[in-house]
Amino acid sequence: MLKRLELIGFKSFADKTRFDFHDGITAVVGPNGSGKSNVVDAVRWILGEQSAKSLRGGEMADVIFNGSASRRSLGMAEVTMTFDNARKILNSDAAEVQVTRRVYRDGTGEYLLNGQICRLKDLKELFLGSGAGPGTYCIIEQGRVDALLQSSTKDRRLIFEEAAGISRFKAKKLETLRKLEATSQNLSRVKDILGEID
Ligand code: ATP
Repeated sequence: MLKRLELIGFKSFADKTRFDFHDGITAVVGPNGSGKSNVVDAVRWILGEQSAKSLRGGEMADVIFNGSASRRSLGMAEVTMTFDNARKILNSDAAEVQVTRRVYRDGTGEYLLNGQICRLKDLKELFLGSGAGPGTYCIIEQGRVDALLQSSTKDRRLIFEEAAGISRFKAKKLETLRKLEATSQNLSRVKDILGEID
């Protein structure tokens, strides 16, 4: 499903760096401090991570390349992830989906979906039920396996529901129930007014 990851100015990746993912297992290997975890941070960031701390930084702009002995710092970080969506796992009709996130030094930023500026909400909807997205199990860090095993049966069930694609229907059901409630309130208001007219 994940086809390509492109980083520009993200953490230690000052130059445009492209990772192509092929069928099967991909392993990123390298010496300590060479930037392996930064690649995982980039994936988490593009999936909508809002916490700078979980990206091992103090604030969001910390993901921007900070400069090195031989290179000046940059003003923007950009990550683009390309998904093969032939099996329609993401909530989009497109056969290939491209998601981009940018952040500038002043902390502002933007999200793009297939090259068009979009809201974080659009991306959340895109990923909902796909198993990708913020807070899902698609990235299992050291320690998370233990946490999963030790979590309550209720919490574990939520993880399986997201994996099975049920959570998107649950979210839709909640939204519909909310609309139903609003409509029934409107109805009772209309009845009151009708009563007053009578
Ligand atoms: P380990 O195996 O020790 O976990 P790693 O290969 O996973 O290492 P990372 O933790 O991904 O390495 O990368 C750390 C490197 O990234 C450090 O050298 C750090 O200086 C660099 N780095 C992190 N943030 C930035 C930034 N904003 N600008 C430039 N370099 C950065």
